[in-house]
Amino acid sequence: MPLNLIMLGPPGAGKGTQAEHIARTHAIPKISTGDILREAVQNGTPVGRLAKGIMERGDFVPDDVMIGIVRERLDQRDAQAGFVLDGFPRTVAQAAALDNIVSARGPLIVIEIVVPEAELVRRMTTRLVCEGCGTTIGPGETSCGRCGGRLVQRSDDNEPVIRERLKVYHERTRPLVEYYQLRPTFRSVNGSQPPDRVSADLLAAIESSWDGAAPKGAHR
Ligand code: ADP
Repeated sequence: MPLNLIMLGPPGAGKGTQAEHIARTHAIPKISTGDILREAVQNGTPVGRLAKGIMERGDFVPDDVMIGIVRERLDQRDAQAGFVLDGFPRTVAQAAALDNIVSARGPLIVIEIVVPEAELVRRMTTRLVCEGCGTTIGPGETSCGRCGGRLVQRSDDNEPVIRERLKVYHERTRPLVEYYQLRPTFRSVNGSQPPDRVSADLLAAIESSWDGAAPKGAHR
């Protein structure tokens, strides 16, 4: 059975870091809509030109644009055997579209990463990303382990924009917990632990969710 995974949680919860780890351990692509948009902005594509100002103020790129991007990406060959989505869906309309896109591909596993708000603000105001490849750098690291690039603050990681992103999260993305939580494949993990502890809890949550998803007696 393919691992079709989505990660829910507020900005700064560690979704990207954890999605990266799962993609590596399960050999599936990590699809981060934030990364896709940042690359589009850097390359000056039409989507990038539309998204730039929206992202800088902490707002959402329109649903139809995001749904189109994800639909196209999930159609690619490497995503057929599973994927981990980071940053999508962020609205109920995006979630409904995703249900449609994956309806013939087996169940969605939905994992929520829970972190208190004060901790989110602390993490985002202090985190650095690599200027070259955009990777988020862990606390204490002084250079990018992937490409050796310079470390900078993300242009939307300043306090007023962080507050706005958290507000938009509560209004538009948090309702997704209600959208998904009655499904047998929904799990929550505690995101205010060291990254390797969160990873361990996540892998256990995926296993147990998978068992919940599989019909009785089915083999993976
Ligand atoms: P965060 O670290 O805040 O979770 P991301 O890197 O996932 O941020 O996304 C950065 C920005 O990109 C968001 O604030 C938003 O403007 C835009 N974005 C990313 N994914 C989506 C989406 N699914 N729908 C709308 N906008 C999105």
